[in-house]
Amino acid sequence: MSQKQYEVLQWASLFLEKNNRETRVADLLLQHHLGVSRTQFYARMRDEIPNEIVEKFHADIEDHVKTGVPIQHLTGYEHFYGRKFSVNSHVLIPRPETEELVQHVINHLPENESITIVDVGTGSGVIAITLALEVPNAKIIATDISEEALRTARANARNLQANITFLQGNFLEPVIDKNIKADIVVSNPPYISEAEREELSDTVVNHDPELALFAAENGLAAYQKICSQLPQVILPNGSVAFEIGYLQGEAVQALIKEKFPKSTTNIIKDINGKDRIVFAQL
Ligand code: GLN
Repeated sequence: MSQKQYEVLQWASLFLEKNNRETRVADLLLQHHLGVSRTQFYARMRDEIPNEIVEKFHADIEDHVKTGVPIQHLTGYEHFYGRKFSVNSHVLIPRPETEELVQHVINHLPENESITIVDVGTGSGVIAITLALEVPNAKIIATDISEEALRTARANARNLQANITFLQGNFLEPVIDKNIKADIVVSNPPYISEAEREELSDTVVNHDPELALFAAENGLAAYQKICSQLPQVILPNGSVAFEIGYLQGEAVQALIKEKFPKSTTNIIKDINGKDRIVFAQL
């Protein structure tokens, strides 16, 4: 016996709510399984849903509730800066805060747009690819230590027709090895400390890659490493833009100042009013 869309959704929303999961997952997942636009989806609530779709949808909802598997791993994509990116368990699911980091870099480009920008730890490639498409004259380099992440980023770049040089290696190491110099270095590195692990939901801690989330030295190890490499990469009047944990602003500023005493640094808040970006003119 087939069911109407609103009935299927009602079941899923109640089940999610009972299990302390976000109920909007139901709408997004069913919309994905039906392969319809948002508008179409909300216009067809009384339509019958084919049984095989109901079954797949049920299985996904149960999986999500039981294991915390994020909806983006079930659908295989996430949107970032208005574009659709493939994601999987080898890359961090892109977060809206990181769109603000990209926006900030775009708002503070030097006059001359034929510049070189390096994205460190590119993951799915969202930062590098968005910059390549939004700043067409810039030369974009992206690094990651993970081959699997680079494979995902390359596929996203190909799909979205972004021209990027991908380099495998630890933070800025491959950029230094190739003697590439950059005007801007941008990064959303791992910045969660081991002590904060317990505060994370199972959706994050069991499904985003460890390598993308956690950093030693109280979450500061990646910034330390990148700052120590920066002098070998950055051009005169260059800048660096980091996404940060909301309590790390001053510590990251201090790391930059240590290497670049004459730099001007700013901490910028995200849309939720939390410190989220450190931007420095070096
Ligand atoms: N640069 C990617 C992003 O911002 C990956 C970041 C990471 O893995 N820490 O989504």
